[in-house]
Amino acid sequence: MKTKVVLTFSPEASNQPITHNLIAKHHLLVNILRAEIDEVGGKMVLELSGKADDIRGGIDYLKANGVGVRPIKEGVRRDDEACTHCGMCVSICPTKALTMDLKTGKVSFNEDKCVACGVCIDACPPRAMEILI
Ligand code: SF4
Ligand code: SF4
Repeated sequence: MKTKVVLTFSPEASNQPITHNLIAKHHLLVNILRAEIDEVGGKMVLELSGKADDIRGGIDYLKANGVGVRPIKEGVRRDDEACTHCGMCVSICPTKALTMDLKTGKVSFNEDKCVACGVCIDACPPRAMEILI
């Protein structure tokens, strides 16, 4: 099975080999979708793949080591009223979930292609994109 989670790191937790331990000790495949972390803490968005028991064990391990864990249940949403179709997100979306129709100048969002990496969220001037957690 697969699950996406947002991790929140305190300064203490940010120095631990979290992803290494998820792979080596909990037998998970770890896809880092987004990382903003330094010695004073930060956030990561991970996709974890593996057996259900291993994913549960990995999440328990994270929590026991002071890492905040929130599952992403519904992925990413666009506020269609807020989107100005500026196109800033189109070239940076790694999965082509955001595309522009060159005839109409309208930007479309295909949720099925979105991997919730979060890159578009900071790039969107009116903050029309949001991660649902
Ligand atoms: S960056 Fe934001 S406002 Fe611009 S096209 Fe993308 S979603 Fe719409
Ligand atoms: S979060 Fe944004 S940039 Fe990332 S895949 Fe989804 S639509 Fe594309």
